[in-house]
Amino acid sequence: MKNAQKEALRKRIRALAFDQGFEEVGFSLSRYLEEEAPRLEDWLNQGYHGKMGYMENWFDLRLDPSKLVEGAKSVITFIQNYSPSELQRGDSYKIARYAYGEDYHFVIKRKLKTIAKEIEEDIGEFTWRAFVDSGPVLDRVWAKNSGLGWIGKNSLLLNKDRGSYFFIGHLITDLELGQDPVVSDHCGTCTACIDACPTDAIVEPYKVDGSKCISYFTIELKESIPNEFKGNYQDWIFGCDICQEVCPWISKSKPHDESSFEPKGDWIGYTKEDWENLSEQDFSSQFKKAALMRAGFSGVKKNIEFLKG
Ligand code: SF4
Ligand code: SF4
Repeated sequence: MKNAQKEALRKRIRALAFDQGFEEVGFSLSRYLEEEAPRLEDWLNQGYHGKMGYMENWFDLRLDPSKLVEGAKSVITFIQNYSPSELQRGDSYKIARYAYGEDYHFVIKRKLKTIAKEIEEDIGEFTWRAFVDSGPVLDRVWAKNSGLGWIGKNSLLLNKDRGSYFFIGHLITDLELGQDPVVSDHCGTCTACIDACPTDAIVEPYKVDGSKCISYFTIELKESIPNEFKGNYQDWIFGCDICQEVCPWISKSKPHDESSFEPKGDWIGYTKEDWENLSEQDFSSQFKKAALMRAGFSGVKKNIEFLKG
């Protein structure tokens, strides 16, 4: 593809992405992530994935997009803000901000598919697949490689203009779209996230022991939460935002304007007592289509019982 055509296509993709409500788009060359292989291997060998056995699968696919999409030449990364305009009120059990509205997996994937289909209307069929925190794709690494930010000491993607409250989605495609410049690390000497993590899950800068993270306990772990973590939870019952809340770059985040991410019920005003008395029927109507459905009623109740006990 000639440079002028490539540039026109990149421009068109950016315009379609902004129409869909994405804040930024970045492009990177699809390649084997050689530098990530030892990091991933070490992380798995240390058992930092806990009972998330699926993380052990598809090792090669995680490192090589061409094993996921035949003839892959580019990874297009999109980010969309999820920072809510209104937070939960008063003394209550806490839900991570990303889970306030409709499950992002569906929302973002819909948008990515719309973009890909619009491009196909322009240029004809091409090979692509959409990924949103699903499938064996190293989301943050590709976002970093696409110039959308750096991976902070809390292991999340940080953006100088937006903080870190955003979703990441990708289109892996056989289109040639070039490489955006990468961004340098701006964590500097800060250790706020490491100091604030209540379960010491950030075992060293840039390395999170997933098996000690509150997000893992409250969402992934189907068994009982180990008692040694009692008293460290700070009322989180689905996910945890602490290492983002304390990050100096989070001051850059602004409320999103995506209606799908608005809370659907009135749970945002729930007290602890309301949560404790929540029936399965109420849970289903309050959190229909929401990410909380991933833990389910029994999972959320288990997390509340753990905090109460
Ligand atoms: S999400 Fe919470 S528990 Fe997990 S690393 Fe961050 S501060 Fe620690
Ligand atoms: S809190 Fe500090 S060290 Fe942690 S990610 Fe933010 S800037 Fe980096």
